Amino acid sequence: MADASEQALLTPVTDDDGAPFWDYAAQGELRMQACASPPCGELRFPPRPCCPHCRSFDSEWRRMSGHGRIWSYVVPHPPLLPAYAAQAPYNAIIVELADAPRIRLVGNLVTSADAPLDSMDPDRIRIGAKVQVVFTQLDGMTLPRWVLERP
Ligand SMILES: [Zn+2]
Repeated sequence: MADASEQALLTPVTDDDGAPFWDYAAQGELRMQACASPPCGELRFPPRPCCPHCRSFDSEWRRMSGHGRIWSYVVPHPPLLPAYAAQAPYNAIIVELADAPRIRLVGNLVTSADAPLDSMDPDRIRIGAKVQVVFTQLDGMTLPRWVLERP
C-alpha cells in the first residue's frame, strides 16, 4: 500500500546553513553563499558555516546573474517514484553557474517556470547549452528551475 508521501514530487530538505538560499529563492533571487572575509571572498556551495579556502566563519549571500550552462544531464529511466513516473520523460541537469564556474547546481530543464517536468523534449538537451534560472512553487517552497536562453 502506497503512503501519501510516495504520491508527491519531493521537496528539498532544508537546514540552517541552507535556509537563506531558499528564502532568497522565495524572493525570486538566486544567491550563493560567499566568504565575507577579505581578501578571500570565495563563493561556496553547498552552504556551510566555514570557508573551505581561508577558514573564516564570516559569510554573506551574493546575488547571481542566474545565467549558466548545462554541464551534464540525465533522463531518468524506470523504476521511478510514482509521482515522477507520471511526469516522465523528464531530465535532471547539472548547471555550471556563469558567475561561479566551480559551482554546479542540480535542477530540471523546463520550457517555462511553471511548465510540467516533462515539458522539455530530451532530444533538445545539449551539454554546453546556455540556461537561465526561473522559479516555481512546489508544496509551499520556491524552487529554482532552468530554461534555455535560446529556446
Ligand atoms: Zn574565505
